[in-house]
Amino acid sequence: MANPKFCPFMRLPLELRQQIWEMAIDPREVVFGRLHDDQQCQVEWSPPPPVLAACAESRCDMQRFYTKAFLRPFPYSQTPPKYCWVNFDVDTIHLVDHQLEGFSHIPSIRQLVLETRGGGHFERGYSRPFLRADLSLEKLTILDLGAAPPESWWFSWISYMELFYFGCDAVSFDTTIVHDGLELTRDTWLSVDRAWRRKMIQQIFGEYLDHRESDDGVLAAEDDPRMSMCRRTWRHVEWCTCPNKPARSE
Ligand SMILES: [Zn+2]
Repeated sequence: MANPKFCPFMRLPLELRQQIWEMAIDPREVVFGRLHDDQQCQVEWSPPPPVLAACAESRCDMQRFYTKAFLRPFPYSQTPPKYCWVNFDVDTIHLVDHQLEGFSHIPSIRQLVLETRGGGHFERGYSRPFLRADLSLEKLTILDLGAAPPESWWFSWISYMELFYFGCDAVSFDTTIVHDGLELTRDTWLSVDRAWRRKMIQQIFGEYLDHRESDDGVLAAEDDPRMSMCRRTWRHVEWCTCPNKPARSE
């Protein structure tokens, strides 16, 4: 096409124009901060989505799909916070670990990327927002940019996975922790952890290892009281109605 412009756009009925603007909404990653090579957090501000910047009409009409999201300023700060336009239905929020608690719309986030420097650095308090009951979160991706070696980097994340998933009050969102191309997910963390525990048991008990498995795939040796650290205790909540509750709550 010599001239790709579509001039009669404004002659279309308003409803059609609005539909076209709506179809032009693209998922974005809205970045509020990144860790740089020196491990310092660099605050960033994403530009507004194209449908809010195209023209006055699109900006006016498309605002109903977007929310002004911001990081709360420090209590003593005099400057009002800068905001970014976010469509929580399609956009991914990208933050550095300590920024989360100051985020203005935690319950609205559906997809979140969180940068940190390893599970040992990730403070217990940082996980608190994930235990809220009012979350819409569906997908949490933690980017572990710490320097832990590939064979043991996952170790410091196990207690968070246990907190999220090893109980009747398990969270509903999926978690993927990424380190140097390696991943720990909601589906894999328990088997990674169990394989390591079996290796430990093998080293301690050697040939006496009891290989019989119970229904849930736990080795008899893992039930050995001397190896109490090898068996996790499923977390029951007060109101749960699990059939296995009396047998397994300890
Ligand atoms: Zn239960």
